[in-house]
Amino acid sequence: MASLIEEPAVQVDNVFNKYADEFGPEKIVYLYEPRCGLRGIVVIDNSSIGPAIGGIRMTPTVNTEEVFRLARAMTWKNALAGIPHGGGKAGIIADPRQMTIEKKETLIRQFARGIESLNQYIPGPDMGTDETAMAWVRDEIRRSVGLSSVLGGIPLDQVGATGYGLAVCAETAQEFVDVDLKGARVTIQGFGNVGQHAARYLVNPKRGAIVIAASDRDGTIYNSNGLDVEELCEHIQQHHGVTGFPGGEVLPIDAFETLECDIFVPAAQPDVINADNAGTLKCKLILQGANIPATQEAEQILHDRGIVSVPDFVANAGGVICGSVEYRGGTKSNAFHEIEEKIKENTHDVLRFARIHGETPRAAALVLAQERVKEAMSYRRAN
Ligand code: NAD
Repeated sequence: MASLIEEPAVQVDNVFNKYADEFGPEKIVYLYEPRCGLRGIVVIDNSSIGPAIGGIRMTPTVNTEEVFRLARAMTWKNALAGIPHGGGKAGIIADPRQMTIEKKETLIRQFARGIESLNQYIPGPDMGTDETAMAWVRDEIRRSVGLSSVLGGIPLDQVGATGYGLAVCAETAQEFVDVDLKGARVTIQGFGNVGQHAARYLVNPKRGAIVIAASDRDGTIYNSNGLDVEELCEHIQQHHGVTGFPGGEVLPIDAFETLECDIFVPAAQPDVINADNAGTLKCKLILQGANIPATQEAEQILHDRGIVSVPDFVANAGGVICGSVEYRGGTKSNAFHEIEEKIKENTHDVLRFARIHGETPRAAALVLAQERVKEAMSYRRAN
């Protein structure tokens, strides 16, 4: 029992000592309900622009530091996206794959009741939670995004909001790099929700790119003449992996490190572009579909090599923009319109700023996001 009480306090102290600054965090809340075994964490990092939107992550290893870092990333992403929301995130320490659906529902509902009074936090889906979980949250506290369409939601994974944003980002980035999207050769690491939709929107005749390689946990599928993306997506529906696809040859999982292409879309794990491979990647443009797929060191190496790497919180903001439109009662077409408008403008502004000031796109994006948050903070009561 003692560790359950001490551990959160120690974790909160560590996070404050390591990260607290002029922006936040505003609140770190621990939820503990021994009867059902709920242990939850909520971090509201900064709500100056509006109530914080961010997902509920349900994994056995989620901790305060991880939730804080994700909440801070949402502060920048939401500010830069120009949606009326601050940054926050939540974690439930549990393994959803190791429990019955009834148990999961109990934990989520208990968690929702625990955050009812935290009205500066609007929950959305993240790893381990989905639109059903968001429906339970809404049933308890009338507040969540990422709902199914029957509840007025815009199912962002089904419509491919994040993938669409990546394609819009590519269209705009062409102006800043020697890449013509028509005929551009694309490799995609991680052919899940984000990767598949990004592929679909990039090869759409309006853009005309060619996907030459796609990977998942089992390996890479490669075709130098271009993979048939629709057939590959269909294959994954049935076989749950890219490597058995007959329309290409199988390469190792890390083939992205050596394949020559125009555009590389990391859409799987953090830190896959690092000091070991950033010096040798053979691409001209990187669209960060995954969250933090490149280390800070790698971003600098890519920049020095003239590779344009559009950071996650610019390129993959389609999902949260969709969530924000849903929260305001908008439709799918409103969401796509807003994604297009905002990602186009932000990609342009960030890459232009980076070029003028000789900064990495990530550093440029951070400056622009911080300017917006600081302006919003200036309107708040000082004490
Ligand atoms: P997903 O689970 O649907 O797909 C992940 C894919 O990555 C799977 O195909 C998996 O096999 C593959 N993968 C895992 N490890 C790999 C590796 N080492 N090499 C190659 N492939 C690997 O997840 P998703 O929703 O597509 O999200 C992908 C990333 O994008 C995550 O970092 C997520 O946080 C981020 N993201 C997602 C959204 C969204 O709208 N879903 C929005 C913003 C950011």
